[in-house]
Amino acid sequence: MATVSVEHDCPLCIEGFAPCGIDPVLGPVMQFCPTQPHCDSCGGAVFPTDADCMPQFADLMAARGYHAIFCPACTGVIVLIRIGEGF
Ligand SMILES: [Zn+2]
Ligand SMILES: [Zn+2]
Repeated sequence: MATVSVEHDCPLCIEGFAPCGIDPVLGPVMQFCPTQPHCDSCGGAVFPTDADCMPQFADLMAARGYHAIFCPACTGVIVLIRIGEGF
């Protein structure tokens, strides 16, 4: 993940990320601050605040019956696929 080196002072977010609600599967999620350019690869992935460690998070999603697809560029979650229902 890119490090934010500039002082980012805005009421919409915390250190470049803005809380955007609670997903039933992911838990509390954040998005890039609306005032910042979004990731070019995905155009707006979400970042679960519970995910301290991605492999651990993947296990948690699997336990809830989902497989999370991450953006390779920003490591946010792009889509959730229900395990067992196929593509
Ligand atoms: Zn902001
Ligand atoms: Zn992305």
